[in-house]
Amino acid sequence: MSEFKFCSNRTKRRRVAAEVAKIITDVENDSALAIAHSSSAATAVNDSSTHLLEGDLVDVKSNDSKVSHFSDDDTSSEVISPVATSDITCSDIGFNTNVENVNAAVSDLSGETWEECEGWNCRPVSECEDDGSGDSYDDDDVFEPLASWAVADNIAHASVNRLLAILKKRIPELPADARTLLQTRRNVATKVVAGGEYYYFGIKYWLQILLNCNNSEALLYSDTLHLNINIDGIPLFNSSNVSLWPILGLIREVNSSPFPIAIFCSKSKPSSLDEYLHDYITEMNELINTGFGHEEKIYHVTLGAVICDAPARAFLKCIKTHSGYDSCERCLQSGEWCNKVILPSVSAPLRTDASFISQQDPKHHVGKSPLLKLADCRMVSGFPLDYMHLVCLGVVRRLMHLWINGTRDCKLSQTQVALISEHLVSMKRYIPREFARRPRSLSEYKQWKATELRLFLLYVGPVCLKGVLSSEKYSNFLDLSVAMRLLLSPQLHQHYLSYSEQLLQYFVSQFGSLYGKDQLVYNVHSLVHLPDDVRNYGILDNVSAFPFESYLGRLKKLVRRPQMPCAQIVRRVQEGSCQPTVNETNRDKEPFKRPHMEGPLPVAYFSFLQYKQYFGDEYFVSTGDGDNCCIIEGKVGIVKNILVNRGVGSLDAFVVFEEFENKISFFTDPLDSQLLSICVVDKLSGFHKVMPISHNLTKCLLLPFKSRFVVIPQMHYS
Ligand SMILES: [Zn+2]
Repeated sequence: MSEFKFCSNRTKRRRVAAEVAKIITDVENDSALAIAHSSSAATAVNDSSTHLLEGDLVDVKSNDSKVSHFSDDDTSSEVISPVATSDITCSDIGFNTNVENVNAAVSDLSGETWEECEGWNCRPVSECEDDGSGDSYDDDDVFEPLASWAVADNIAHASVNRLLAILKKRIPELPADARTLLQTRRNVATKVVAGGEYYYFGIKYWLQILLNCNNSEALLYSDTLHLNINIDGIPLFNSSNVSLWPILGLIREVNSSPFPIAIFCSKSKPSSLDEYLHDYITEMNELINTGFGHEEKIYHVTLGAVICDAPARAFLKCIKTHSGYDSCERCLQSGEWCNKVILPSVSAPLRTDASFISQQDPKHHVGKSPLLKLADCRMVSGFPLDYMHLVCLGVVRRLMHLWINGTRDCKLSQTQVALISEHLVSMKRYIPREFARRPRSLSEYKQWKATELRLFLLYVGPVCLKGVLSSEKYSNFLDLSVAMRLLLSPQLHQHYLSYSEQLLQYFVSQFGSLYGKDQLVYNVHSLVHLPDDVRNYGILDNVSAFPFESYLGRLKKLVRRPQMPCAQIVRRVQEGSCQPTVNETNRDKEPFKRPHMEGPLPVAYFSFLQYKQYFGDEYFVSTGDGDNCCIIEGKVGIVKNILVNRGVGSLDAFVVFEEFENKISFFTDPLDSQLLSICVVDKLSGFHKVMPISHNLTKCLLLPFKSRFVVIPQMHYS
């Protein structure tokens, strides 16, 4: 079933649904084999398949009492006996279904034709017809996709059991129980640690898995693996205060998604940090000292960065929380009382890793962190100030709060809020496919997620606020937006590092003047220390909590009932859920989609195939709004067509590109926007150029601004 590895989940579901539909038809026909009514069978399949495709459960009254409805009871030690397969034979099932009718029925349901199912290993009708000699299915043909589907879609065991009960009438070899299909472990050795339910997967466990499935060049030339970790709490249920506090890891060189090193569930955060971190610190020290051996190579393993929000950092470092005096993690200033503790200085002496260990500033510490036992833990520089929490959820949301609920000096009028919201909503269709969320009204800012706040700060905010905010406040917002763009840009961050540092210091001082000195709280002050993280780790996305935050949400969804949540998560992960995935390239997939004949097609390219979409390894480009604006070789324009010439063993791909005739700067303060490739454009030239699709292509957002458009290079692709 290797072809399934390259199928989308949707395709896998469609194939399983097709198998199920065919089997249901067989069962329907069983009682009336002698009567030819293939048309009614197709109708029956149609009805049943509709339910399946819509995700409902199929209520089938099984004759086998041993395969009754089975609840997803992880703690149950009861084992459901397998169905007595000898009771069911192929001849009993009735194999003479009109497969063509069934396929047609399923095709109609899915809205797609069978020809579109590339790689579908559908047997010819003749193979499916029963010759009376037995079942023609290879077990793995159904086992693997069924298990993959159940894991990928997080299907409850009870639902899988009902499906298995139906399928067993056609494929007796299938297990009766989801736990057998998914190879669920009966015993999960969770233990009580730090006042909660705890399970330790370990670092080596995941390193083995990751290195086995990764053959990236980065690993070939690297002897070191940097392990970034994340610790954060997330509530599991609305109706109780049980929280999930996993220790998550991510290997920087492998470019993988996160993985759970340990799982911890409790009604509060871990009661003892020493107990909670004991296993991790022990294994990490072992890896630091001896390395990790894989395929005759010893990798040096080191702690990359500890990426958390401010409360979690204070908890792990055993220091004052962010609302207290002496709370800045980077500089030595006590702070002032201004209805709350504020940190007004932007140039206080800096803390160092050594000064932290010696507790040079005793007022900063509330205890001794167990992380000091780590062989290479850097307690100041090793804890980057994650910009997702600090900037997006911190400063940007604070700005919105001040604009909507602030004092009279800060607050915007209802008309101004309406103008901004209207402009935001009008930009929906111009947001690229890679952004999961579209802009929405400013009045809903409290519900905005971190990715929406990032979209606002870096892309849509500078456009929709221009001419609505006062010039001082707009200029202040633009200082933050530009500084963050510089610290996130792979091309610009090094060259403009000192500049962005000065710009952030200026932003903080102006923020106090515009919105009040009492607004210079921990989050706003800490902006001035972000450039130090760029010096240590490169662009801020290298050490952001965005991938961890997304993974935490996925882990939470694995909990299906309130009892023993830790054991449930461990079982689901061991079944295959939330496994770390190495970033795949599109090398083995067809990158060009939606063929057409509509042009424009320059004469010299008459024999080329035309497409509307290109799925590159790094970006998606199409001829539709939102994904059609690019900068190619310094020229800004619109992609009008995608041309492909498929030679023997080669593939030439081009875009038909129409350049904008007029291009001016969008802003000149704090710097000329064209240095960031941000500009205002209008009037297409009317001439088509054909240019190769290459890495010189920079995808851009093209956002409406008055009667023209603002072009802003895209920096985020996931
Ligand atoms: Zn500071």
